[in-house]
Amino acid sequence: MNVTESSLVEIRDAIADKKISAVEVTEAYLKRAADLNGSINAYRETYDDRAIAKAKAVDAGEAIGPLAGVPIAIKDLMCTEYGRTSCSSNMLGDFHASYNCTAVKRLEDAGAVVIGKTNMDEFAMGSSTETCAFGSTQNPWDQAHVPGGSSGGAAAAMAADFCAGSLGSDTGGSIRQPAALCGVVGLKPTYGRVSRWGLVAFASSLDQIGPLTHTVEDAALLLKHMGGHDELDSTSANIDIPADLDAIDQKPDKLRIGIAKQYMSDEANDPAVSKAVAEAIEIYKSEGAKIVEVDLPHTEYGIPVYYIVATAEASSNLARYDGVHYGHRTKTPDDLIDLYARSRAEGFGDEVKRRIMLGTYALSSGYYDAYYNRALKVRRLISNDFRTAFESCDAILCPTTTSPAFKIGEKTDDPLSMYLNDIYTVTANLAGIPGISLPGGLGERDGKKLPIGVQLLGPAFGEANLLRIARLYEKNTDYYRLRPQI
Ligand code: GLN
Repeated sequence: MNVTESSLVEIRDAIADKKISAVEVTEAYLKRAADLNGSINAYRETYDDRAIAKAKAVDAGEAIGPLAGVPIAIKDLMCTEYGRTSCSSNMLGDFHASYNCTAVKRLEDAGAVVIGKTNMDEFAMGSSTETCAFGSTQNPWDQAHVPGGSSGGAAAAMAADFCAGSLGSDTGGSIRQPAALCGVVGLKPTYGRVSRWGLVAFASSLDQIGPLTHTVEDAALLLKHMGGHDELDSTSANIDIPADLDAIDQKPDKLRIGIAKQYMSDEANDPAVSKAVAEAIEIYKSEGAKIVEVDLPHTEYGIPVYYIVATAEASSNLARYDGVHYGHRTKTPDDLIDLYARSRAEGFGDEVKRRIMLGTYALSSGYYDAYYNRALKVRRLISNDFRTAFESCDAILCPTTTSPAFKIGEKTDDPLSMYLNDIYTVTANLAGIPGISLPGGLGERDGKKLPIGVQLLGPAFGEANLLRIARLYEKNTDYYRLRPQI
């Protein structure tokens, strides 16, 4: 068995059947990360001793559970009692949390072994994992290209086989977009499906934790064990995870695939992306799906609405980092106001400052109605579009991004073009619905072969059916097996 190329389920089963020990598995991943992380920078830090100790407990039969010994990575905005939680920001550079994020804790309680924390855009603001205070992450498929973002470290760690599963967070696409650009599976669950307790907040009405994996089955398994109601998060839904969520080879109950013209522009989409979606349509037809046309007329407002709602919420959430309540404190302030101003000026990077200013502006008196309130109204219309669409289809098939990964540095001076990256992902967050990006083969950019993703969106709390529909596509393709040469 080639451990580091195996799926999470294969590893779990091999450990359970005593074909390999949990310590051997953990050591294999730690070694690969130690050898190769220098050229990818997927991990911010690894917890070697702690991971080995956890694995030993599994082998000794002291830590048993449905995920016993499975090595996972977590994004560096998930609070843990061990290690640092930096959000890739100087503001929290040396922050040690005093409690564990519920999603991570649940996976560990099920026996998973946390290998390390992965790099991200600062405070999850970005689409390229370049806005980090401690260096950007490289795409394992070609190191001159970005891995996507903001969970770029999580996606790169998966593509580089530094872990068997990883957790990211998705506020406007940050799980699905990097998953697409790195050639792995990325699932954003329904808003409220997974507890946000212990997840450092970016935009609280949009943020959602989800898995990045090699297979749909692995994603289902991680969701099953980390999701469900949590009384520590008042927005976590009191809806049970279906017991058979991970029985994804079952036939979907319903199989009508919706295609929205708003996502299918040949002008906007790279030819390889259009081709991948066309191929997916054929696959679903061959599986007996009914293909229906749906209309999502407010899609074009997704980006402006998202960037008002997300920045407004961010400006409020990030007010706590003032050098007194939380975060970096400047050394020799003149007075209290100077302490606040300089602590924030020194602690935050440019993109975070831009978002705080945009959000503060949108919420300021005189502009609140014109921007924030109007954005909320259009958000409702976007949500209604999906609700209507799901009356005639069971999942919407579309691209995850318009193109494969762009070059590092290519968009850093052009925030608007960076924001446009999220055009196919933000609406799911605004509507709170689940979405999954699946490896859709390789496209070409700058003379390099780079992954692209196809996306499926489903109705709220419909993950079980959505994952079964996703599995049908996966079964008919081999793209999820592709690995980069590093
Ligand atoms: N790229 C988007 C942004 O910059 C989404 C980020 C995210 O989902 N965390 O806001």
